[in-house]
Amino acid sequence: MASNPSKRVCNNILEAIGHTPLVRLNSVTKGVPATVYAKVETFNPGNSIKDRMALKMVEDAEKAGILKPGGTIIEGTSGNTGMGLAIAAIVKGYKCIFTTTDKQSKEKVDALKAYGADVIVCPTNVEPEDPRSYYSVAKRLNKEIPNSFYPNQYDNLSNSQAHYEQTGPEIWEQTEGKITHLLVGAGTGGTITGTGRYLKEKNPNVKIWGIDTYGSALKKYHETGVLDKNEIYPYVTEGIGEDFIPLNYDFKIIDHFEKVTDKDAALMTRELCRQEGIWVGNSAGSAIAGLLQLKDQLKPTDVVVVIFHDHGSRYLAKMFNDDWMRKMGYLDTSGMTAQDLVASRKSIEVVTIDKHQPISAALKLITENNYSQIPVTSEDRIVGTIYENTVFNSILKNPAGKSATVESIMKEAMPFVDITTTVHDLSTMVSGEREAVLVKDFKAGRNYIITKSDIAEALAR
Ligand code: PMP
Repeated sequence: MASNPSKRVCNNILEAIGHTPLVRLNSVTKGVPATVYAKVETFNPGNSIKDRMALKMVEDAEKAGILKPGGTIIEGTSGNTGMGLAIAAIVKGYKCIFTTTDKQSKEKVDALKAYGADVIVCPTNVEPEDPRSYYSVAKRLNKEIPNSFYPNQYDNLSNSQAHYEQTGPEIWEQTEGKITHLLVGAGTGGTITGTGRYLKEKNPNVKIWGIDTYGSALKKYHETGVLDKNEIYPYVTEGIGEDFIPLNYDFKIIDHFEKVTDKDAALMTRELCRQEGIWVGNSAGSAIAGLLQLKDQLKPTDVVVVIFHDHGSRYLAKMFNDDWMRKMGYLDTSGMTAQDLVASRKSIEVVTIDKHQPISAALKLITENNYSQIPVTSEDRIVGTIYENTVFNSILKNPAGKSATVESIMKEAMPFVDITTTVHDLSTMVSGEREAVLVKDFKAGRNYIITKSDIAEALAR
């Protein structure tokens, strides 16, 4: 495969857009009988593929005289297009106002604000024609604000054209024309149509597979030509699926649409990071989950390219947040954490004893509360552990010894783990001699103790 030039000097950040690497996937695709590459678009300055089409929309508008110096760019965007537009606006001296939906990650909205853009958050679950929808609000502002430009990424064909001119040729060159399948999460349709069109012109046998999500009308429309409103309902996956048909689509170029569930997309997004070290967004997880669903249609000589649209950092509050994943019901018990054990009262808040206390005080705590072990403190820091057996044995050996200090019989301190540690990881910590671990909830400022039996019980559930 061709390699990227390593010496790259740019006159401004816009020149750094494109020429992203193709990275072979080696782990998540183990069951797939083909060579699979990811086109990792996070290497763009705005960390997403949308930089390409955002710049193209701006430059085409400048050429057409629609966007004039000092103008304002107004767009409905889920974040990534906004990022590309915001970067172009900074370099070229425009203002930006973005409308987005309340479904989008807070991180995406904050990132747009970081580039100095104004962001208006609109409700998700309204019809596109509703005056509150993010499409309608963007259109209204465009009418109201003088010298403003509304790129409208859905119906602006500069979107798909950017991918026809850049993404397609890059993939063709990087695979030396060996690509047999392109797999793309589809939203506005720009990426799949533009890239697919170029590749099909080069080799009509290249299969173009789109990834859609449950709750979106795209797959059904592709197969029947009917925009079926019954297909449309709220979904979690970000960046792909539509409830209307943008003009950027050329459905003839697409050979097949595969739907992927929100859960499968979320879980695979995490696996991509853990197994491949590629921290990408939700639509990349959806695409690979879709590839696994389609694997029986592939053969060893096939070369598949999957587009990874954006960066995982935009999903820190969602797919990369265990609490969110659990709340959504996406994690099974193997994903349970110390937090779950604390919440289900399988653990108790820690009672400690100072190292200068007599052994008799420890004996009292142990017998009254039925403790098996107690953490020992020195100036409020945990420095050791005493176990019921050691306490009993030392008193049995020498009853007068009960006035000796706890320090004289204490053993090594139990390890502290964060409350987000998985039960699986906890189980490895209590194998062998160790009977318990201490769990710290940094936010609540509390410590808990979780014993071997708490963990065994959780794993047996
Ligand atoms: N993934 C992500 C994360 C996106 O932001 C988008 C753009 N909506 C897509 C996939 C789909 O790309 P396109 O709009 O070009 O179809």
